[in-house]
Amino acid sequence: MPESRPEKLIIDGKRLDGRKFDELRPIKIEVDVLKRADGSCYLEMGKNKVVAAVYGPREVHPRHLQDPSKAIIRYRYNMAPFSVEERKRPGPDRRSIEISKVSKEAFEAVIMKELFPRSAIDIFVEVLQADAGSRTACINAASVALVDAGVPMKGILTSVAVAKVDGQLVLDPMKEEDNYGEADMPFAFLIRNSKIESIALIQMDGQMTKEEIKMALELAKKGAMEIYKLQREAIMKRYVTEEGIEVEEVNTDA
Ligand code: ADP
Repeated sequence: MPESRPEKLIIDGKRLDGRKFDELRPIKIEVDVLKRADGSCYLEMGKNKVVAAVYGPREVHPRHLQDPSKAIIRYRYNMAPFSVEERKRPGPDRRSIEISKVSKEAFEAVIMKELFPRSAIDIFVEVLQADAGSRTACINAASVALVDAGVPMKGILTSVAVAKVDGQLVLDPMKEEDNYGEADMPFAFLIRNSKIESIALIQMDGQMTKEEIKMALELAKKGAMEIYKLQREAIMKRYVTEEGIEVEEVNTDA
């Protein structure tokens, strides 16, 4: 990858990686990849490679953190030292703490936490390789891992970013577009029964006009619906036997 800004981020109406403006990077989702977690998922979104592990609902330690009325949700986003070009110092930093916080708040809106008083649902996401949009990849993986763990939810969270590069809105920006673009706007949507119910997360750095923000939202919704289908397919694939019989009752929407 070039260290300096490429002269153009869009050439002949195409992006540097050949994608159309409204095209996602290739996505791969695998469910139930970790033996010891209650639910897990490995997900690739372009060059991002992430793993999500869910534990719980389980007893909260230390006990003073228990909430008698509902489960507490904990979310830890962590980047492996080898996930980026320059080695990243291991451990939490301001960025990962912020990403963990906003992602946790997004999941608090979908998990039916009132069903599990005094317990905790722990979501760990590990970024093995990052190429912009790692928080969105992690939210998508965590959603699938939560379904795999059987955690009751009002729907599935699906996340994707929109960027503005060379004055053009593009879906699911990769590293060069994120680094050198004019704006980057990650979204997460609550999707239930193939319908977008609400927005669980919006962030933005850079600048967009009011009109562009509206268009970015529409573009993100389109991308989210495509990702949602892949999330569902991955879950169905895991829970349907070769004979086509479901081995376990799984509701991907609740
Ligand atoms: P996101 O990965 O959700 O887009 P950012 O916009 O903060 O989050 O980061 C964009 C990209 O910049 C990351 O995906 C990663 O490729 C790179 N990056 C982030 N933090 C670091 C870091 N500490 N060292 C090197 N590269 C980083």
